[in-house]
Amino acid sequence: MVKRFSCWYACIRGCEGRIPMGGTVYECPRCGGLVDVEHDLDTLKERSAEEWKSLFRERSAAAAWPMSSGVWSRRELVLPSIRDEHIVSLGEGRTPLVPLPRLARALALRELWVKQCGTSATGSFKDLGMTVLVSAVRQAISDGAPLRAVACASTGDTSAALAAYGAAAGIPTIVFLPRGKVTPAQLAQPLANGAIVLALDGDFDDCMRVVRDVTADRTIYLANSLNALRIEGQKTVAIEIAEQLGWSVPDWVVVPCGNLGNVAAIGKGFLLLRELDLIDRLPRIAAAQAQNADPLYRSYQTDFRRFDPQQARATLATAIQIGNPVSYERAVLVLRQLDGVVEHASEEELSIAAARADLNGTYACPQTGVALACLEKLVAKRTVRVGESVVVVSTAHGLKFTAFKAGGPEQGLSGGGTRRREPIELRANANVVMDRIDRELAGLGRE
Ligand SMILES: [Zn+2]
Repeated sequence: MVKRFSCWYACIRGCEGRIPMGGTVYECPRCGGLVDVEHDLDTLKERSAEEWKSLFRERSAAAAWPMSSGVWSRRELVLPSIRDEHIVSLGEGRTPLVPLPRLARALALRELWVKQCGTSATGSFKDLGMTVLVSAVRQAISDGAPLRAVACASTGDTSAALAAYGAAAGIPTIVFLPRGKVTPAQLAQPLANGAIVLALDGDFDDCMRVVRDVTADRTIYLANSLNALRIEGQKTVAIEIAEQLGWSVPDWVVVPCGNLGNVAAIGKGFLLLRELDLIDRLPRIAAAQAQNADPLYRSYQTDFRRFDPQQARATLATAIQIGNPVSYERAVLVLRQLDGVVEHASEEELSIAAARADLNGTYACPQTGVALACLEKLVAKRTVRVGESVVVVSTAHGLKFTAFKAGGPEQGLSGGGTRRREPIELRANANVVMDRIDRELAGLGRE
């Protein structure tokens, strides 16, 4: 616990009143809208920007728990009310910001980085929010809250994260998955961590509806990203990007978007840094959706005057196959403040973009493929201009999506070349092998 610093819940639509932390709060008691965590900015500002930077620098050098976590090393900005003994950390955060200079040149960008949030305990950025939420639940239980379990609906990554942190804390975990719509790797994760795994007939939005009903009596804690605590942890992606760029920001941050908690959190992080003078300007945000699940994109076409939930269609980007995003209002608030745009990408576009990035050294998950494809489209439209700098947020590890990798596009890569997706089978003979290597290398030279 960090004394002095404080925070509370407040309605994102602006209803008056502060709701104390600690209770089971998901929405505004007056209007039913979402709540967010608000921090006592006056106290945070008592420390200068330079003092914050040197504090974070010191903690980055410290390997000791809990400062080894990218989330808890910024705890004053995240959730200062958590006492040390309740922190549940699996070493989340501190993920690499990787430059892709060859791809940057191909897109005429000054710099292009990928923020590899999938390099994490359960292989996705969801760990950042779950460490905060599960720590808060552990503290609430210790303080006497009658909570029996934590639960979430998931397209795969959220359930993996909740199951892991729940297991670490010894809190029973229930996950709701759309049957047959998550990858085998994602299904194996919560099962291994001992969660109660419920595969429902329907899609993610059906699972979300059911989990809200099941958690209505408040003895099972709702862990979806409509929960404001998740947003606080995910916000640290923005803090890490700024710190990794020497306390500056790129011109653009491109974020794959499904349930929209992600883009809301990253925007909130940059706004807080600006408020505390840790950065001197804001990046623009590009929200990237799969064309088959693009309610935010459709709403953007009306300047966010209309929002129509849709029945999401099948997409390779299963983690963002969501037609009725719970954090829609949060996302719009952030997009307006960060001069945001929304783009969408087809299945072919996302596959080609992921494959192209892989040929530049990544192993991009399909959601990252969506972000990269949208970036290419924004460059083509000159929304993202020549010479600008871009960070693409990669939300999950490509290893969770083996079938996507094995079955990627054969056509459409640079020069219209084809890509082999099988190994070359040969006799174990050095002459045969050398001959084949010569032909393969000559072939690469021609591409
Ligand atoms: Zn309200």
